[in-house]
Amino acid sequence: MRLILLGPPGAGKGTQAQRLVQKYGLVQLSTGEMLRAAVAAQTPVGLQAKDIMASGALVPDEIVIGIISDRLDQPDMKNGFILDGFPRTVPQAAALDELLKRKHIRLDAVIELRVNESALLDRVETRVAEMRARGEEVRIDDTPEVLSKRLASYRSLTEPLIHYYSERRKLATVDGMMTIEQVTREINRILAAVGAVEPKAAPARKARGAARKTARPTGKKVAKTAKKAAKPAPRAGKPASRAAKKAVSAARGRGTGKAKKAANKAAPRAAKKVTKKRAKR
Ligand code: AMP
Repeated sequence: MRLILLGPPGAGKGTQAQRLVQKYGLVQLSTGEMLRAAVAAQTPVGLQAKDIMASGALVPDEIVIGIISDRLDQPDMKNGFILDGFPRTVPQAAALDELLKRKHIRLDAVIELRVNESALLDRVETRVAEMRARGEEVRIDDTPEVLSKRLASYRSLTEPLIHYYSERRKLATVDGMMTIEQVTREINRILAAVGAVEPKAAPARKARGAARKTARPTGKKVAKTAKKAAKPAPRAGKPASRAAKKAVSAARGRGTGKAKKAANKAAPRAAKKVTKKRAKR
């Protein structure tokens, strides 16, 4: 599985990446972590990046593209990877496309964690407090001043990637304001919907009846989830995201007939696609 996690600082990319690493044995490629390691080791890249990172600005594209290109050549990449914090600009995304093409690697999905900006400062403050409590060194760019600069660069340089990947039909958006557990569940559902992971195995024949009663959501519930997912995530003035449609498809795929009908009503075009795909299979 090859995945990109997209979202502003404090959106929960690192937390979710960790969970995916544990569940699927993927490698997390965090350019922020790699750069911090380079700064600590005082490598030439680290020396170049140090002050830029401390100020909350982005390190030049060539540097991070070089780091990622080298990393993708390592043998541990074969089980798949999660890119966390890369790409962060359109030129980085274009360079990544080129790299993946050259290495014959297919990207499965780009998952955007969408959060309210007002919550981000709180989250970063919590992160700092937790790191202090664990006796860990606190990042020098985790201050309110630098955070606002990092957010500004996210808005102007990274947010265009939402359009970039949406156009390429790779984008799925998850409401990052949900609990960590709910976000993880949603990500897993998207990964199953795009075929990046096997959907959960069907219950064994004998247990099927009981499982239906206990584990499966009722038709009403799935329809509700699907309708909820079809609503645009909290960004004013934007149409319902592709992610919402995907979530609808995912919900439909798992739902009962009644639920499917209700979900189809919520987003009929997406429904047709799913039906066609199924028919092909
Ligand atoms: P992060 O840990 O992802 O928040 O990144 C910390 C800092 O590292 C950022 O504020 C940037 O200065 C730098 N950085 C990390 N990833 C990138 C990237 N893809 N492009 C440019 N700068 C980056």
